[in-house]
Amino acid sequence: MAKNRELVIAVHGGAGFKKAKKGQLDCIEEVIRTGISILRDGGSGLDAVEKMIILMEDSGLFNAGSGSHLQMDGAARMDASIMEGKDLMAGAVASVSGIANPIACARLIMDKSLHIMLAGEGARRFGAHYNLRELRSIDKEGLKAVKRSLDSGGDQARLYKSVYGCETVGAVAIDLEGNIAAGSSTGGFSPMLPGRVGDSPIIGGGTYADNRGCAVSMTGLGEKIIRCSVAKEISTFSELGDSVSIAAGKAIMRLLKRIDGRAGAITLNRDGEYCLIHSTDFMVGGFIKGKKMAVADQFKRVL
Ligand code: ASP
Repeated sequence: MAKNRELVIAVHGGAGFKKAKKGQLDCIEEVIRTGISILRDGGSGLDAVEKMIILMEDSGLFNAGSGSHLQMDGAARMDASIMEGKDLMAGAVASVSGIANPIACARLIMDKSLHIMLAGEGARRFGAHYNLRELRSIDKEGLKAVKRSLDSGGDQARLYKSVYGCETVGAVAIDLEGNIAAGSSTGGFSPMLPGRVGDSPIIGGGTYADNRGCAVSMTGLGEKIIRCSVAKEISTFSELGDSVSIAAGKAIMRLLKRIDGRAGAITLNRDGEYCLIHSTDFMVGGFIKGKKMAVADQFKRVL
């Protein structure tokens, strides 16, 4: 184990068109501190990513876990995925209700099942089998958001721009063994038909990790991100020699030019190079590298 390896974490709390809510930055800073102590104690990148996302799901401050947006029938159906870069192992849940931590369910699917993704009731039962905590209360604001966005009309991308703040969560980390990992978790996008699934549980869409490329967690309108397989594209560009910021910039610009998709990404490679980049007005995120202080901030558009 390379004990001197510089540990790095990047976390995001979503890209959007409205400023971050009060408390989100403090939460991210706290989450990063927890993540780095897991890595310093020899925990894996996967362990750190899972725990950090659990904390954000539980905070109720983001559109994930207990803060999830509701679908048109009033139910929260959540998406999450997690992946590691050494053997390309991955787990995902789509459209799952009733469990507090979809990311923990995704990790269990990766570790304990022969599958990559479980959806809906099957995912909930799988989580219950492993005694995952139930989700009891959900953000009632979500229902109001659905109503608001239904009233506003227009196409999906325009709607996303008009209602979206910084909300979906994700994390990337590199551990002492030099393995990278990525995860994403979301309550989706309003308005959503019951059963709608976004990019966050799609391996290669919203999440990807390959030690030969990089770890990526995406945020933005899933209906666009899926169509360009953005997370995988960023990793592939970086495997072919681009720095993680050039790779992410290229893929996000391609999404914008090709299908007018706006999104944000956090990326991290095995050399500890990381970036946060977005084509939305705002993105909230934070980093820690080595012994430096954790930094959480709201970032303004550069692309
Ligand atoms: N990517 C998420 C989804 O489409 C939403 C977001 O990142 O804001 O489900």
